[in-house]
Amino acid sequence: MRLWVMMTLAFCLVGAVPSQGAEVMRSSFPVRTDSHQCHDVRGAQVSSIRFDNLRDVAHAVIMNHTPYIVLNPTRLKTLPPKLQAFFYEHECAHHILGHNYNPTLSSEPEADCLAIKVGRDKGLFARADVLAFRPWIEPLRGSLRGHLPGRQRHRLMTLCYDDDEPDPLMAERMDVAAAAATRFRKAARRRASE
Ligand SMILES: [Zn+2]
Repeated sequence: MRLWVMMTLAFCLVGAVPSQGAEVMRSSFPVRTDSHQCHDVRGAQVSSIRFDNLRDVAHAVIMNHTPYIVLNPTRLKTLPPKLQAFFYEHECAHHILGHNYNPTLSSEPEADCLAIKVGRDKGLFARADVLAFRPWIEPLRGSLRGHLPGRQRHRLMTLCYDDDEPDPLMAERMDVAAAAATRFRKAARRRASE
């Protein structure tokens, strides 16, 4: 299976979500894996794949020019539903921002921030939900790929929740993604009517 090869090109969400030292809540899975809920920077629909042997909670990958979110059900089902939703939004944010095509050291914080803001604006996350992520996020180590150490990471997530000012670069990227999604939907409707 070539999946693992593609993983090397993928963005991972976290090194490992701690299952000890933090309250582990069993919850239903998946929270959100509807392919219509995520579009990438080109406007393509992002489907979800379940892969139990994934070393992380989730990955954003491109396979055969098609964007996917790979989810690890075994790890995700140990987490609260809102945190599962955050992980999904984080991977979707990588696709929205085109990070698989143009990765930078700020890709991970950008994905965290956009995931929080998108979840907030959709009414998915209350501020208390983001604060409640702390026992899971804070113990995480940072990574050379750009993951912030857990304490900083959670603080950034909270700041992003509180930030109402549109980020010009982020706003521009979101506009590009939204426009591409509209084009994609129109093209799909045209194909369906042919
Ligand atoms: Zn990531």
